[in-house]
Amino acid sequence: MTVVTTLPDRRLLLVHAHPDDESIGTGSTMAHYAAAGAHVTLVTCTLGEEGEIHVPELAGLAAAEADQLGGYRIAELAAACAELGVTDHRFLGGAGRYRDSGMMGLPTNGHPRAFWRADLDEAAGYLLEVIQEVRPQVVITYDDNGFYGHPDHIQAHRVAMRAVELAAREGLAPAKVYWTAMPQSVLEAGMTHFEEASDNPFAGISDATELPFCTPDKEIAARIDATDQHVAKEAAMRAHATQIPATSWLYSIAGNFGAEFMGVEYFTLAVGTKGPGGGPYGWESDLFAGLDVAAGPDRAPVSSAGHR
Ligand SMILES: [Zn+2]
Repeated sequence: MTVVTTLPDRRLLLVHAHPDDESIGTGSTMAHYAAAGAHVTLVTCTLGEEGEIHVPELAGLAAAEADQLGGYRIAELAAACAELGVTDHRFLGGAGRYRDSGMMGLPTNGHPRAFWRADLDEAAGYLLEVIQEVRPQVVITYDDNGFYGHPDHIQAHRVAMRAVELAAREGLAPAKVYWTAMPQSVLEAGMTHFEEASDNPFAGISDATELPFCTPDKEIAARIDATDQHVAKEAAMRAHATQIPATSWLYSIAGNFGAEFMGVEYFTLAVGTKGPGGGPYGWESDLFAGLDVAAGPDRAPVSSAGHR
């Protein structure tokens, strides 16, 4: 039996490299839109097999040991998505199709299934299938440096941008593509705050612009205030316990800045037209700003494929 449903008018697709990136980078935005009734689809490109393990009793799962971390992280990601209220989550090409490439320059970059080595059109083809099914108006991924230079993040960027191009050829172009970013003013405020702290996450950095993801405020397009979801984001991060130790500086920043640090996320606009915004730089407060989401041919029913 084919069950036909109609997806909500607003549809958001996020393309991330590893389990935990969705929560750390965009967790509040995801929870915000899911709670507001938008359809939020998360595509994760690898299982994160090469991650460090911060839970001592699970150390034997590591890639060099039992090599079971990737499978374990499927469950962590499912728990994180549940905290975020996100029900549509998939792995690019299916779970295990692409392997975590590890940090740039490591031998793991050359693994036959390493995402870094993925054929761009094949990988983009898997993502195109998701775009064809969900028809998102808004896509979120990383900038061309993958936010901070990890090969899988760079590849996620390339695959997402290629899939958007392929979708455009079929008349399914998402109206907007955003890249995650951190405004210079926000980083500078954080650096000032932590100057004297023993757990200063900015130790060794004298200027915010040394950070690869530092973005001039005027280049930011959207500031999503999801402070009402900061608890969900923190809970989602805690679901990734193998990756984010309870002593992480992320939680110490959260303790200092609370809702503001966890709940506000920033984006640059890579494709599309910026909608109306506010403040000195006209930052949008809604990723769907300026879009007529109820209009257009992309409201046709789709079959509900469910989780993958
Ligand atoms: Zn990552």
